[in-house]
Amino acid sequence: MDSLALRDALARLAANHRWTWSDSLRGLWEQLDGGHLTRHPVVLVNEITTEQLADLLEDHEAMAVVTAELAALDAMLGDGLADPQIAYFSPEFGLSDVIPQYSGGLGILAGDHLKAASDLSLPLVGVGLFYRQGFFRQRIEKGKQAEDYPTVTAESLGAINTGKTVRVPLPGREVVARVWRMDIGRVRLLLLDTDVKSNSAADRKITDRLYSGDRRHRLEQELVLGVGGVRALAALRWDVSVFHLNEGHAGFLVLELMDRRINGGDLAAAVDQVRPGLVFTTHTPVPAGIDRFGKSLIKPYLQVWADRWSIPLKEIWALGADPVDKDRYFNMAALGLRLASGANGVSKLHGEVSRELFAGVGIGDNITSVTNGVHARTWVSSATQAVFDEVLGEQWTTGDPEPWDRILTLDDSAIGDLRHQGARNLSALVSDRTGHGLDPDSLVVGFARRFATYKRATLLFNHMERLTEMLADGDRPIHFVFAGKAHPADTPGKKLLADVAAFAESAAAHGRFTFIPDYGIGIARVMYEGCDIWLNTPVRPREASGTSGEKSALNGGLNCSILDGWWAEMFDGRNGWAIPTSDVATPKRRDRHEAAATLDTLDAILTEYHGNRAAFTDRIRHAWHSLGPQVTATRMVAEYRDRIYGPALARAR
Ligand SMILES: *Cc1c(COP(=O)(O)O)cnc(C)c1O
Repeated sequence: MDSLALRDALARLAANHRWTWSDSLRGLWEQLDGGHLTRHPVVLVNEITTEQLADLLEDHEAMAVVTAELAALDAMLGDGLADPQIAYFSPEFGLSDVIPQYSGGLGILAGDHLKAASDLSLPLVGVGLFYRQGFFRQRIEKGKQAEDYPTVTAESLGAINTGKTVRVPLPGREVVARVWRMDIGRVRLLLLDTDVKSNSAADRKITDRLYSGDRRHRLEQELVLGVGGVRALAALRWDVSVFHLNEGHAGFLVLELMDRRINGGDLAAAVDQVRPGLVFTTHTPVPAGIDRFGKSLIKPYLQVWADRWSIPLKEIWALGADPVDKDRYFNMAALGLRLASGANGVSKLHGEVSRELFAGVGIGDNITSVTNGVHARTWVSSATQAVFDEVLGEQWTTGDPEPWDRILTLDDSAIGDLRHQGARNLSALVSDRTGHGLDPDSLVVGFARRFATYKRATLLFNHMERLTEMLADGDRPIHFVFAGKAHPADTPGKKLLADVAAFAESAAAHGRFTFIPDYGIGIARVMYEGCDIWLNTPVRPREASGTSGEKSALNGGLNCSILDGWWAEMFDGRNGWAIPTSDVATPKRRDRHEAAATLDTLDAILTEYHGNRAAFTDRIRHAWHSLGPQVTATRMVAEYRDRIYGPALARAR
């Protein structure tokens, strides 16, 4: 290879986001970026110098990575990609820490879904929006969350201009959106972007940021996503027959699908034609988490379609009328459930809760569940992946339990080495961000997630004295590491965050309670590999699934969690700890009871960790054995393929 060929090879490897789950490629990009990956590799390759190329050519290890990865990419893409038949719509996609197009769990799940679809060679395409300013970066200023919005370009995130634009009808105007494409292994992701010259200044900002602005902004974003998304698929001449709504945000896609089928104003007949191919996943049992639009706001936007079809507005309204407040709100989850022929929640418990919550709404009584999983090669540390590949074989990510039987042969010292290495990496991160590392003897307890109030980040503060005593105990050291962002408009969430940040700085924390600012995929990965215990204290049953605990589990962390979401069905008595829930009447008393129960559980964990390390290590081995096959995104997407997409494809044909 000469330097020109090397540059081309690197450009190809950077452009396909398969690199987001290849550890050796990630290592190569880190090397090019001075040790830490801070920029998209497409940018690194664009800016690569002649010296860097010459150095790489002499670096046998790096060149071996380039050759092997190029061969793997070519093998993956084969003779080119088949046209997609399934479109997966989501308002956010979390693919990598250097692609700021996600805010939290929903987006990361969507990213993992695409990656696993690629692993399984599913004919699936993702559809989303391109946000010039993505989600905010967090700083703590005077004890409070401050938000920055760095600007990015699509090209600098490895997006390719498809050359297509689509038009989306809004009241009195049409908005133009450019269609970008990102390649994720064998899967493509389309992103719509209204920041084009022919739009008005206001319309150019429709896709500026994720979950920001007022309700009108949100409504216009969702119309661009749904209607524009279907038009983008048509512009690319892809004959998609199954449409998957990852939560209701893209629900307006039904307007465009019906537009193609409506005849003589017969809306019911159009609905009947759309229904077979439409499937819907609900992600929250919390009413405030469901998208609803007030009537006066949404009316002119729906009127556009009523006029096109010459039908009364009330016929369209009826499709999305809120189940409770049917004359005041248009409810995107209700729209999805009324029009879809398949629907699911994201854990068994959440399926049950959703059937109750949506009883009588469309397919609501028949909501099934597919429990969320996580993309193993994205989330498991490279050291742990290497051990799994060697001991279990490379098939450990597939959801097949057979390879996991061999984990029982892994000895204590190998497990201890992996855990120590993870702890060192986390300690380095903590000391880089806060100036103090972690005591290597302490049990490290991690808590990182959105600061939504139902997740109760400050639960332990209900018993401050006990918590402080626990932190002061030099014989059984413990260290808490917290991280997370509050939505910029979530005042109560921001208050919890300020309380956590303040406690971390207080004398009562004894230097054993750390808050790491600017939580995102990068920090999360280091926390998963470095925390011994993953703490989760939601108000049951509001955590529809949760996935961070699954990532921790794959890395050898043990879950200590309320029996909610995925944990309610996978806890087996020995693969972690369940925090007992309380059914006392008032939320305040319930929180006090559950805080005490959490401290009791942590106390028992400390006793085992510091008193009987062999038992603790045995639990890790057992947790891998029991959870490893269940928590991967490959298992999840295979279930979608077999139980949701397969039947929908058959119906739609
Ligand atoms: C996994 C993950 C989440 C979702 O975690 P939950 O347990 O579902 O709250 C959010 N943010 C990041 C960065 C993650 O990696």
